[in-house]
Amino acid sequence: MHDFSYVGKNFYCENVNLREIAQKFGTPTYVYSYKTLTDHYLKLDRAFDYITHIICYSIKANSNIAICKLLADQGCGADVVSGGELYRAVKAGVKSDKIVYAGVGKTDDEIKFALLSNILLFNSESQAELELINKIAGELKKRPKIGLRINPDVDAKTHAYITTGKKENKFGISLNEAFKIYKTANRYRNLQFRGIHIHIGSQITSVQPYVEAVKKAVDFMNKLKCEGIKIDYFNIGGGLGIIYDKESPAKASEFAASLKPLLKEIDCSLILEPGRFITGNAGVLLTKVLFIKKAVNKKFVIVDAAMNDLVRPSLYNAYHNILPLQKSDEQKSSEIVDIVGPVCESGDFFAKDRRLPFVKSNDVLAILSAGAYGFSMSSNYNSRPRAAEVLVKDGQCYLIRKRETYQDLIRNEKISAILAKSGQENEKK
Ligand code: PLP
Repeated sequence: MHDFSYVGKNFYCENVNLREIAQKFGTPTYVYSYKTLTDHYLKLDRAFDYITHIICYSIKANSNIAICKLLADQGCGADVVSGGELYRAVKAGVKSDKIVYAGVGKTDDEIKFALLSNILLFNSESQAELELINKIAGELKKRPKIGLRINPDVDAKTHAYITTGKKENKFGISLNEAFKIYKTANRYRNLQFRGIHIHIGSQITSVQPYVEAVKKAVDFMNKLKCEGIKIDYFNIGGGLGIIYDKESPAKASEFAASLKPLLKEIDCSLILEPGRFITGNAGVLLTKVLFIKKAVNKKFVIVDAAMNDLVRPSLYNAYHNILPLQKSDEQKSSEIVDIVGPVCESGDFFAKDRRLPFVKSNDVLAILSAGAYGFSMSSNYNSRPRAAEVLVKDGQCYLIRKRETYQDLIRNEKISAILAKSGQENEKK
């Protein structure tokens, strides 16, 4: 499942003691396992051996260019949702014919960039955007392939914030509208309508919503076939769930097997866009205990990471397992604590009323399952420099992102001449 575990009293990533990483690179620091990343990719890739497919890693889950590169080296493509993610994918060496571009609102510049990069497919989900892509493609003398994102109106049974395939969500086009677009595709002279895209949500632990959504999409493709419209790419999105706590998500092999009978009906390439499945359990966030604070009915463990580093607990009330890097004998006993960061928000917590072995100042904790939507959702809130990122491979560790400095925080800011002048004038008064 992943390569983080205790060896004796010490917590390791692969065969590297995480305490050494904390000492060398400081905290907070994200640590990723190369082996877990590639294992997860290969597991999914092999599970779909029965059909021509491309796995397009969803860069939003963890956008570090080293991670994109190591996956690209395995043959992985990319699912991007912005010009910035496309830039990362290109810089990481992802092949352009394995890049798909989703998202409800692409700008002129982003569309131009994607056209000039010769990506595989634009996943588009509104007529207005199709018109814009058609216009810009004409100007650039390009004829891009389009995958229409349809909304299958299926409940993914996950957190409301990460459910995307119900009709009340902003994503996708209804089947009726999509059918009309396909029937009148000729009016978009510069576009080739070649794909169907669905993505019903994230952290989905059961295969049932996928089966339901894929069935609807396959029926839709069969309806198009009756009209003489051939689809070459069926993109079933991402969303495969992982274990954070006590979940028992479907395995890649079970997921692939459950879709096999449906996918047999179609004659096109399959695209998958996993994010969390690949990186989620391949990363931890190391954080140092600053202080222990006792309040009336509570004990707080105050750590040096905060919601700006890992926002999932604050945003979704998400559960992350938290373990000390070193087990001590005292840790045989435990206590109930809140683990909180230094940010000035009561919502800045990693765990509430959690049983944790006794810890003290300067102990280092590992927040598990932090490899997806961890660093990529981090910010500089409270003017906190963002964490370092380290990759472990074959017993070595490599810094793949430097810790930010105070200078980094103000690098793009400017005190304009007019403010400098007014400061001098006020001083004179
Ligand atoms: N594809 C699309 C279109 C998405 O919006 C997302 C996540 O929001 C993903 C793929 C990746 O989802 P996950 O990380 O759950 O696999």
